[in-house]
Order: sequence, then structure tokens, then C-alpha cells
Amino acid sequence: MSIQEILLCKYGEIILKGANRRTFEDQLTKELRIRASRHGHFEIRRAQSTVFIEPKDETADLEGMFDAARKVFGIVAVGRAAVAEKNMESIEEVTRAYIPAFLRDKKTFKVEAKRSDKAFALGSPEISREIGGVILSCCPWLRVDVHNPEVTVRVEVREHNAYIHAGQFKGAGGLPVGTNGKGLLLLSGGIDSPVAGYMMAKRGVRLDAIHFESFPYTSERAREKVLELAKIVAQYSGPINVHIISLTHIQEELVRACEEDYFTLLLRRYMMALADKLAKDEECNALITGESLGQVASQTIQAIGVTDPMTSLPVFRPCIGMDKEEIITVSRHIGAFETSIQPYEDCCTVFTPRHPRTKPVLEKVIAQEEKLDFNALVEEAYATRYLVRVRADY
Ligand code: ATP
Ligand code: MG
Repeated sequence: MSIQEILLCKYGEIILKGANRRTFEDQLTKELRIRASRHGHFEIRRAQSTVFIEPKDETADLEGMFDAARKVFGIVAVGRAAVAEKNMESIEEVTRAYIPAFLRDKKTFKVEAKRSDKAFALGSPEISREIGGVILSCCPWLRVDVHNPEVTVRVEVREHNAYIHAGQFKGAGGLPVGTNGKGLLLLSGGIDSPVAGYMMAKRGVRLDAIHFESFPYTSERAREKVLELAKIVAQYSGPINVHIISLTHIQEELVRACEEDYFTLLLRRYMMALADKLAKDEECNALITGESLGQVASQTIQAIGVTDPMTSLPVFRPCIGMDKEEIITVSRHIGAFETSIQPYEDCCTVFTPRHPRTKPVLEKVIAQEEKLDFNALVEEAYATRYLVRVRADY
């Protein structure tokens, strides 16, 4: 017999109260629709804290959609299920054809039936017992263990059909992107900032990104690497507008006029000021950086104190309390690590001071800054900006 498979995406209910729930569900469905459009013809509908994704014709790539759905924030688990008609004969037949493949190397199982259609002939315990019997007859090596089974086979009798599945996979968790405003991610080519973007997107923040380059001190290849990283993050966050701004003239002016020890700090103040300006023009509610306390000279508590006042927006630094190892774990999880470690220069790595200030005093930083026309340089750099729209291949 030919089996029709669908995806069942579950979302947690705990945080869903009142009007929030509608926004959450609408946004989640919208994100799934956008991704589904890349994988052929699917029908997407929701009922009882589950989104059903059903292939409509042979263009539908269920495998690809399964991977894509597991990257959508707000979904806690994704299961694959076989569709049966709403009668015991069909449920038994589909169980025999579909379930044994999932149980080949297992020893124990149980069946959990759920019946949201109360008019269905059998109750949940009876369905569980019947289907348990069917499975034992075609997989005689198995034993039922109701307390600690290796596999739980689920039978759900719902409004239109019954669904049978053997195992769910962890979803991306978090909140649907777009339910928590928009943040401007300061995206470099390193390990930390893509992780920071991913983490905030997971809390429902839609992302724009700003990248600073310093051509010809930084290369075309370095820029491509950053866009590649944006594309990786976009698998989770959805499309990202990446704004690219040139810092070349600012850096040359800093080298010409200011004390070397302050280069990086001064540059970071320009970056924050430019990000603040762009964020306001693009209606972002916060800035996001990949800073981790004490990781480098410009990320000491005093250094952050010197760059933070350049914006009136909240600055989210989700990596601030993480060790490099922990950040790398997330970086690998999202598939960014191999790209991040490609050795290309960043504007922060050209003209780096030999003895950067690690405990800067704000007055001294400002005294250095006043050697240049800060606002004029910001305006000039801001005018160099251009936009690259990045979307994932999913
Ligand atoms: P990352 O791994 O994210 O590059 P890092 O450890 O190299 O971080 P820094 O170079 O000090 O740290 O940068 C700290 C943060 O400043 C980065 O996480 C990023 O948010 C931002 N940043 C640094 N360089 C750039 C850049 N060229 N364009 C945009 N943002 C940048
Ligand atoms: Mg960096």
C-alpha cells in the first residue's frame, strides 16, 4: 500500500496567553509557509497546538521540509506521521505498513492514543491496546514497557483523519521570529556575532545586520564570507537585510590623528554611533553584538562602558556570559563554525594597536576623539552604506 506522510509541528502552550497566542500562531504559520514555498506544494493548517504540513502533490519534498521545519523558532517538536482513515481497519493497516521500519533495532515500546474526536467508536485505552497488539504481531521481538519504552508509537484520532507516528524530533524551540520586534546585528566575520544573531532570533527578534568593511584593507572575499554567515543565520531568522558601511576613511583618520593605544576603542565608538543611526532609520528596537566579557581588550567591562553610551537603544549581548567553548558549541550547532574560522581579515584586525587600553577612562577617550570631527566622519561613512538582501537556501 502507498502511505501518505505528513509533518506535525508542535508548539508549547505555556507562554501562550490571550492575544499573544494569535500573534504567535499567525507568525509561526507564516514562517512555515515561507519555507514551504521553497519545497513544493504543501497545505499548512493548525489545530490543537499543532501545525499540520501536508504534501499536496509530487512537487512536495517532505525530507527538505522536515529539515526546514526543525529550524523554525517556536516549534518544540517535529514528527513525521502516516495518515489513516478514521476507522480501526485503516489505522491497523497503516500501522502494519508504516511502523515496523521504526522499530527494527528496538526492544521496548508503548502505544499512546489520543482521541480528540470523542465520537470515535473506541476510547484511547482501547485504541492503544488494539494497536499494541498489531505491532506485537508484526514485530515479535518487541516487548511492551509502559514506564520506560525506547519508542512511543502515537495514534492521534483527529477531526479529519487519524495519524500514526513513531518518534518526534526536537524542534528549534524559542519564539517565532517577528513576535519580538527587530534588532540590528553588528555582524563581523567571526564566530561570536552569528551566534548572537541566532540567539536573539530565537527569542523572536527579526534581524537586520550591519557590517563594517575597510576596503582595500579588507577584501572582497572577507565580505563574501560575512554574507555567507548571514545566509546561515537566515535559515533560522528568515531573510536578513545586510547593510554594509565603509570605515576606510575613519580608520585612516584615526591612524593619522590619534594615539595608537586608542584606535580600537575609538573605532568601536564610531561603529556603535553608525549602528545607532542605521537602527533608527530602519526602525530597529535594539542593537545586538557578539561581545563576551573579557574575551579581548575591547571587551573588558571598562571598554564596554566606553562604547555603550554611543547608543540610546538597548544593546543585547547574548554571548556576554559565555565561554568561547560554549559559543563554539552553538556555532557548530547552527553550521556556522567552518565558515567563521576561514582566515579573512576584519576591519578590527587592520591597524590594531600593539598595546590597546584595557581599562580606558572615558575622558581620555573623548580627548582623543575630539582630535577629529566625529559627526562629519559619521555622516560621510553613513553615506557609503549599501544594502544586500540575504535569504537562506533552506
Ligand atoms: P566576532 O567573533 O563576532 O567577530 P570578536 O571576538 O572578533 O567577535 P570583536 O572583533 O571585538 O570580537 O567584535 C566584537 C563585536 O563587535 C562583534 O561580535 C560584532 O558584533 C561587532 N563587530 C566587530 N567587527 C565588526 C564588523 N566589521 N562589522 C560589524 N560588526 C562588527
Ligand atoms: Mg571580530
